Amino acid sequence: RGLQKSEGPMGDPDSDESGLDAEDDRASKHIDKARSGLPIIGMEQEVMEAVSENDVVVLCGETGCGKTTQVPQFLYEAGYGCKDFPERAGMIGVTQPRRVAAVSTATRVAAELNTPLGAVVGYQVRYDRRVDPGTSVKFMTDGILMREVQEDFLLRRYSVIVIDEAHERSLNTDILLGLLSRIVPLRRQLAQESAANPPLKLIIMSATLRIEDFLSNKRLFQTPPPLIQVAARQFPVTVHFSKRTELHNFSDAAYKKVCKIHRQLPPGGVLVFMTGQREDLDEVGPAAFGGDAAEQAGELGTGELEAEEDENAEVVSEEDLETDDEEEVVVMGGAGFTPEQIADAEEHFEASLGIDLNALKESGKPDEARGPMSVHVLPLYAMLPQAAQARVFSPCPAGHRLIVVATNVAETSLTIPGIRYVVDAGRAKQKMLEEGGGMARYEVRWISKASAEQRAGRAGRTGPGHCYRLFSSAHFNDTFPQHTPPEILNTALEGVVLAMKAMAVDKVVHFPFPTPPERAALIAAERCLVALSALAPASLALTAMGKAMARFPITPRHARMLLQVVHDAATTPQHSAAPLAYAVALAAALSAESPFVHIDSIAAEEGDGEAAKRLRQRAGAAHAQLRSSFGDAISALNALCGYESAGRSEAFCRDHFLHARNLREMAALRAQLARIVAQQLAATAGGPEAGLPSLKVDARELAKALAPPPQKLVKQLQRAIAAGWADQVARRVRSTEHVASAAEKAGGKRAVRYRTCTLEEDVFLHPNSGVHRAAPQFAVYTQLVRTEKRPYMAGLTEIEPQWLAEVAQPLCTFSDPLASPPPLYSPAEDCVFCWQSVSYGKHAWELPLARR
Ligand code: ADP
Ligand code: MG
Repeated sequence: RGLQKSEGPMGDPDSDESGLDAEDDRASKHIDKARSGLPIIGMEQEVMEAVSENDVVVLCGETGCGKTTQVPQFLYEAGYGCKDFPERAGMIGVTQPRRVAAVSTATRVAAELNTPLGAVVGYQVRYDRRVDPGTSVKFMTDGILMREVQEDFLLRRYSVIVIDEAHERSLNTDILLGLLSRIVPLRRQLAQESAANPPLKLIIMSATLRIEDFLSNKRLFQTPPPLIQVAARQFPVTVHFSKRTELHNFSDAAYKKVCKIHRQLPPGGVLVFMTGQREDLDEVGPAAFGGDAAEQAGELGTGELEAEEDENAEVVSEEDLETDDEEEVVVMGGAGFTPEQIADAEEHFEASLGIDLNALKESGKPDEARGPMSVHVLPLYAMLPQAAQARVFSPCPAGHRLIVVATNVAETSLTIPGIRYVVDAGRAKQKMLEEGGGMARYEVRWISKASAEQRAGRAGRTGPGHCYRLFSSAHFNDTFPQHTPPEILNTALEGVVLAMKAMAVDKVVHFPFPTPPERAALIAAERCLVALSALAPASLALTAMGKAMARFPITPRHARMLLQVVHDAATTPQHSAAPLAYAVALAAALSAESPFVHIDSIAAEEGDGEAAKRLRQRAGAAHAQLRSSFGDAISALNALCGYESAGRSEAFCRDHFLHARNLREMAALRAQLARIVAQQLAATAGGPEAGLPSLKVDARELAKALAPPPQKLVKQLQRAIAAGWADQVARRVRSTEHVASAAEKAGGKRAVRYRTCTLEEDVFLHPNSGVHRAAPQFAVYTQLVRTEKRPYMAGLTEIEPQWLAEVAQPLCTFSDPLASPPPLYSPAEDCVFCWQSVSYGKHAWELPLARR
C-alpha cells in the first residue's frame, strides 16, 4: 500500500491525474505536514492492534484530533478494503450523521491519499453518490447504511464499519449500533463456520466521553469493548460569559459581538454558532455581518474583548464600547433586504461579503468595498450546497478575516481551519414531541453544557483562543442540561419500527437500543402503522402493504400515500401514468420544508413602511397563484410543478417568493423517487406477496415536468393523503357541540374548532394554512403544533369522510359483519359496499356511507 501511494494516484494510469505536477506536489507536502501534526497519528499502531484483536472498539478523542480523516486511512493501510486480502476484502464503511460531513471528509481523505474522489475513496448521501466498483473507503450518512442493512442484513460488502460522531446520538446512529451489536457476532459465527466468510469489525468513534451508553450497556455488548482515548492537544481557550443573557434578540447580540471582535482583536477567524438554517435566513441573515473599522483591528492585540462579560472573564478595560454598539444597530436597521436577497440564504451571504459599513450607511444599500482588512463571511449549515460548504476550507482571501456563521454542523463534525474566536448563542433549534397524540413543538432551546464545551473548544485548534458566550455564567450553571438527550427520545418512531419489521426484528420492544425509547412511543408507532395498513391489527406482523412501504426511502406516511395511487392505478383498467407522476411529486414536495417564503419575514427589516407593505402584498398575491384551497400539500405540489415547468428557474422562485433551496431539494428527490418507483414496479412481478401490484409505467413519464394538477387528479391525491394520515383526521365541531368560552360569549370572534380522532382536546386550523378560509368539515393534518396561544393543526388537506372507509379500513368498524371489507387491491367492479354504518377511530364518528 505504502508503495502504491508514494507512486501517485491509483486510478486510471492514463488519466490526467497521473503524475504529480509541481502544484500537486506542494499540496501533498502541505497535507503531509498537516497530517503529521494530528494527535492521532502517533496512535496508529495502538488503534490497529485493538481492531485486529477485537471485533468492536470504541475510540474517543477531541474534535479535530484526526479520527474521521485518519482512522479510515489506518484501516486502508492495513489492507482493509483490499481485494488481495480475503479476510479484509470488504469495503471500509464510515457513517456520518450529516451529509455535509460525509461529503467533505470523503473529499479530504481522497486528497490526503492523492486519489480522485470516487475512486479509492467515495461517498454516498441521499441525492448524490460517487463510488465505483473499486472503492475501498466509502463515507455515507447513517441513513444510507440503514437502508443497506435492510437490503443485506449481514452487510457482506463491508469488512469494517466505522460509526462516527456516535456522541451525537442521532436516531439512525443509535439504531445502527443496536443492529450492529447483532450483526457483528453473526458475522463472527459465520466466519468460524467457513473461512470463506470474513468477519466484520466495528469501530465506534465519539468526540466526548459520554460513552457509558455504548460501553457498559449489557444489552448492546455483553463484554464491554476496549476504549482507546486519544490525548487531546488543545490550546487554552478563555471563556467569556456575558453579564446579561440575551433572551430574545440573540442574533443582534451575536452580530454586535462579532463587530467588536473584528474591530478590536488581532487577526484570526471567527466562528459564530447560531440555532439553525432558518435563523441563518430569517434572523442573522445577510444584513447582519459586514466588516468595518478594520483600521482598528490588531491595535489592541491583547486577544481580549472588553466589557459586557461578567466576572468570569478578565476584563481589561471598559472604554469606548457603548457608542460603537449604537452605530451598529443603526446600520443594521438601514440594511434592508431586497426581494432578491430574500430568495435565497446563500445569495444573502454572498451579498454581505465584504460589505463596508460606512458605504452602507451613506447609500442605504449594500455596497461591495473589498479593501484590505475586510471580512470574508461564509455560512455553514447542513442544507447548503456542497460547493458553498467547501468554501470554508479554502484559504481566506489575503487581508480578510474569516467569519463563519454556522449551525451545529461545526460543533463536532467539521473542523474549520484558522478559527481563533468563537461566538456562541448557546441555543439549538429542537423538535420536541409531546407524549400521546404526537403534538410537536419547535423550540429554540439551550444547548447542553457538553455542547457548549465542544463549541468553545473550536477556538483552540490553531493557538490560544477565546470563546464569547452570549449568556451569563449563572444562566449556564443553572439552566443548561448536562447532555443533549438522544434524538430517539424525541422522534416519532413509525419509520424506525417499519424499517425494523422489514428487517424481521419483530419484537421492537426487545431491540438493544443504546437508550431505549419509551415503551409508549413504540406502541404509538405500531398503532400508527396499523392505521396505515402496514401492520396487521392483531398480530402486528408486516402486511404486503407494509412490505411495499418499506421499499421506499421516504417516511411511512409518504410511502402509504404514494402506494394508494399505485393501487388505484392497478385497479383502473385504462390507467395513465399521470396520477402516479403527481403522487411521486407530492411525496417529494412533502419531504422537504415548505417552499413558501413566510410572508411575515418578508421585508421585516423595512418595518411597517409603505414599501414593505407593498412587498408583502405582492408576495401574498404571488403565493395565491399557487395556493390551493384543498390544502397545503397541494399548494406545495403546485409550487414544485410551477418550478419544474419553468425549467427549475431561480427567477420563478424570486417572482413567486419561494425558497429556491427547498424547491431544488424537492426536485432532486422527485427525480430519485421516480427512478426508484419505476424500478420497484418493474422488478416485482406483482401480486400481494410482492407487496406491489403489477403495473406498467414508463419511467420517463414519471419524471417529466408537470403542469399543476387538474381538478380530477387533485381529488385523487387528496384521497391518497387521507390514506397516509388516516390516524390524523379532524372533524369540524358543530357550534352546538361545545360551550363557548367567556371571550366568545362576550361577542368575540369564534374560532372554528376541530376534534381529532385521537386527542381529547379540541384543536384549531393554523392561520397560515390555505384551507383556513374554507374551514372544511373533514381534514387531515400532518402536524399538531402547540404555540403559546393554541394547539394548531398544520399541513392541512380537506378530505371526504367516505374515503376513509376505503383507504383506512383498520380504523373503521363496519356495522354489518357479513359484508367484510374487500381486500385492498381488488378491482373496483368487485366491490359492493353494503354496510349499514361505519364508525371511525377512537371516538367512533359516524361516517357517511361509502358507496360505489
Ligand atoms: P476529528 O474527526 O477527530 O474531529 P478530523 O479527522 O475531522 O478530526 O480532522 C482532523 C484535521 O484535519 C482537522 O484539524 C482539520 O483541520 C483537518 N481537516 C479535516 N477536514 C478537512 C478539509 N475538508 N479540508 C481541510 N482540512 C481538513
Ligand atoms: Mg470527526
